[in-house]
Amino acid sequence: MAELKYDHVVVGAGISGMVSALLLARNGRKVLLIEKAPAVGGSMARFKLKGVPFDTGFHFTGGLHPDGLVLDMLTVLGIEDRITPLPFSKEEGTRFILEDSGASYGLPNNRQGIIETLTELFPAEASGIKTYFEKVDSICDSTATMNLRRLSEPMSMLDEDYATLSVVLDDLFEDPKLKTLLAGYCLCYGASPSEVSFANHVRTAQGMHDGLARVEHGGDAFIDALQRKLEEAGVEIRCKTEVISCEEIEGKNIGAFRLNNGNLVRFESAVFTLHPKTILKILPQKKLRPAFARRIDEMKSSFGFFAIFGVCDEPELLEGSMLLVLPNVDLDTQLACGNRNADSMLFCISANENGQRAMTILEAACPEDYAEWADTRLMKRPVEYAEFKARKTERILERIYAVLPELKNHFTVLGSSTPLTFRDYLNSPDGSAYGVKQLAGQFNICGKLPLRNLYAAGQSAVLPGLMGAMVSAFIVCRQMQDADEFDRYINTELN
Ligand SMILES: Cc1cc2nc3c(=O)[nH]c(=O)nc-3n(C[C@H](O)[C@H](O)[C@H](O)COP(=O)(O)OP(=O)(O)OC[C@H]3O[C@@H](n4cnc5c(N)ncnc54)[C@H](O)[C@@H]3O)c2cc1C
Repeated sequence: MAELKYDHVVVGAGISGMVSALLLARNGRKVLLIEKAPAVGGSMARFKLKGVPFDTGFHFTGGLHPDGLVLDMLTVLGIEDRITPLPFSKEEGTRFILEDSGASYGLPNNRQGIIETLTELFPAEASGIKTYFEKVDSICDSTATMNLRRLSEPMSMLDEDYATLSVVLDDLFEDPKLKTLLAGYCLCYGASPSEVSFANHVRTAQGMHDGLARVEHGGDAFIDALQRKLEEAGVEIRCKTEVISCEEIEGKNIGAFRLNNGNLVRFESAVFTLHPKTILKILPQKKLRPAFARRIDEMKSSFGFFAIFGVCDEPELLEGSMLLVLPNVDLDTQLACGNRNADSMLFCISANENGQRAMTILEAACPEDYAEWADTRLMKRPVEYAEFKARKTERILERIYAVLPELKNHFTVLGSSTPLTFRDYLNSPDGSAYGVKQLAGQFNICGKLPLRNLYAAGQSAVLPGLMGAMVSAFIVCRQMQDADEFDRYINTELN
């Protein structure tokens, strides 16, 4: 059993862990990045079925346009030239279909186009639409963390952090269909309109209004680019490794971690990029106030997905766009837990690579609804589970073929997965897609934990998704270093 010493330890090597490790390794700091899985990447990693690459947890993003937050972060990390955006079609990036009424709406893939289209579709709501987009801008302008140059400003809650999306939409609009079109981005953070804060909804949506894009080679492009940079920066990466206990505790300072291989790793400071409930289990319970543990225990996980992976032999279908299918306008009911057989919001997206057209169909699914099989593990689940998956797949395909009949004779299913599959592959506690929900009035765990030299980042910190997970790394790594020097570094890289 070895005793090792690093300046910083990063726990979890998803996108937030990889970015954190790179930001901490600047100026020759010695960094260890540990990952429980056999490989780095977390939700960003692709996998293959019958040789066809599929994305696990990265299908598209906003923020890759000039001056977009994601592009800025890639620029600071020096990997912007390794990421090739494949923008959705300008004319129709997203098609919404409401199954009960048959209503179908194509929204362009740019902000001005979205505003004009919505105003044409809902002329009586024109002034509300104008106000809505003004609110989007004002909230994002007031959120320092949405601009890398303003990370030094305090992170403060806005009034809109306390209001739910439903309340604001109800105030502004009459037409339930318009409210649902605007709330549809909830598929990118995993909470319903009556739960999420209006502020976090628009922080996620703003970059998406400005333009959605897939990325060539999906999440693997980010992993490959970051891995190369981590190697150059001398970051040591240990996979199949996890923290068993916190050791050498003095007051509120943790001196070392004991790892599962028996090694003792000493450090100055460490950052966890894991689900808050996983972090809580690792921390020394005696050093925590009951209120802190209760706060984490009470956090609700976001929804996850039932996914169907297949290939489509029709080259033009869903090229450069995404199909979003909703049983009706009532997102709160369809996203509520308690009925895994009910139809919910689903989206269908495809990727064309190396002449193969991979298509993924995801239906929002509540991890809690799979509690009956929670004690089972991958490849060892009972026959009832397989039967449920087969029925669900059949039902989802029936719904997709009803709205996209051209797909019917051109689609071959290669596999399917439930939140439990995601849980087991991604080492998450429950298979939620986005960590904990961004609830109105709730401040998630971001930055310093109630222990002096331990920090939390990751998708549950400020916002989920590629953008939220990456920006959490920037915010937290700034707290862990000389902040003025970090700000100078950001400004130099961006100028
Ligand atoms: C089905 C699905 C679809 C999605 N689609 C999109 C999308 O289109 N666009 C988008 O922007 N986002 C999407 N997301 C969300 C996005 O993938 C995540 O928000 C983001 O990748 C999270 O990054 P992270 O680093 O915070 O966490 P993760 O990627 O979960 O990384 C955490 C890492 O920690 C490791 N770990 C866990 N426990 C331990 C431990 N005890 N010790 C050490 N390591 C540990 C895990 O193995 C994992 O590698 C999707 C997610 C899912 C599941």
